[in-house]
Amino acid sequence: MRSIDIHAHLTPQCFIRAMQAGKAWHGIQPGTMRIAPRAIWTPEQRLADMNSLGVDVHVVSTGAAFYYYDAEATTVAAMHRECNDEVHQMTVDYPDRFKGLAQIPMQDPTTAIAELDRAVNQLGLVGAMINDTANGRTYDEPEFLPLWKAAEQMGALMFIHQQGGDTLVTPRLNRYHLPNTIGNLVDRAVTFASFVFGGVMDKCPDLKVCLAHGGGYTCYGIGRMDRGWQVRSEARVNIQQPPSAYLKKFYYDCLTHSEAALRYLIDTVGVDRVVFGTDWPADMAIDWPVSWVLSLESLTQEEKEAILWKNLEKLLGI
Ligand SMILES: [Zn+2]
Repeated sequence: MRSIDIHAHLTPQCFIRAMQAGKAWHGIQPGTMRIAPRAIWTPEQRLADMNSLGVDVHVVSTGAAFYYYDAEATTVAAMHRECNDEVHQMTVDYPDRFKGLAQIPMQDPTTAIAELDRAVNQLGLVGAMINDTANGRTYDEPEFLPLWKAAEQMGALMFIHQQGGDTLVTPRLNRYHLPNTIGNLVDRAVTFASFVFGGVMDKCPDLKVCLAHGGGYTCYGIGRMDRGWQVRSEARVNIQQPPSAYLKKFYYDCLTHSEAALRYLIDTVGVDRVVFGTDWPADMAIDWPVSWVLSLESLTQEEKEAILWKNLEKLLGI
């Protein structure tokens, strides 16, 4: 039995060192970013924790706090290169334990393509983690199509993950941790819809997209999206099939915090589309993720193995 975690974050040591030295880092001033206790752990400390959790591989992504899509693109591109180089070094030092997802500056799709190309084809990373939106621009907008085409051609996985605390729920009700506990799931459903209703999945049939947090409310709300497609012409502008026909084009991590929700996800999208993701080292992570999956009575042994490692082994070629 193996386990490969697609949803495991990094606060780069290069950033930590700058902050501890009281120095600015690519425009980030010391003391301006909250750093969680486990976020400063070295790769060796991370490995010790992975061993205690029974996790074999982290597909490491530099945390969403480092998106900075609203900052100047050249500065952020340099920051992202340094992040990606550090993730790359982890995969060199521990090739059996770490794979990597890149950061790419989505405010400038041309630069984002260049960094994705460098990350995948030179550094050996498996794709990129990106926000649900780039400065309010959703992914059905035409400026992003060259990026999806490039990612499709490279075989690069796009892992969709919100920026902490900044979701569609934030302006509505910014209390009770709802921008995270509800907002993450709202954002993911909108992102699914932007890719599908925007026709991106038809234009890029081999594009690999993984929706974090089980795809949010996508599966639970797909019937209403189908109904809208049936009765409203504006929903059919770009697609000839109902939205539900695209569910199996995406991948979804298992981070539902609910056995019933995970069972529904598997039954809706197929077990071959559900992958292991824990959100290490966030407080919203699954505490004992391998044990949790193994304990679920409504999943068969084959389904548990598919989720824990077989699907990601195949998807990422690792
Ligand atoms: Zn996360």
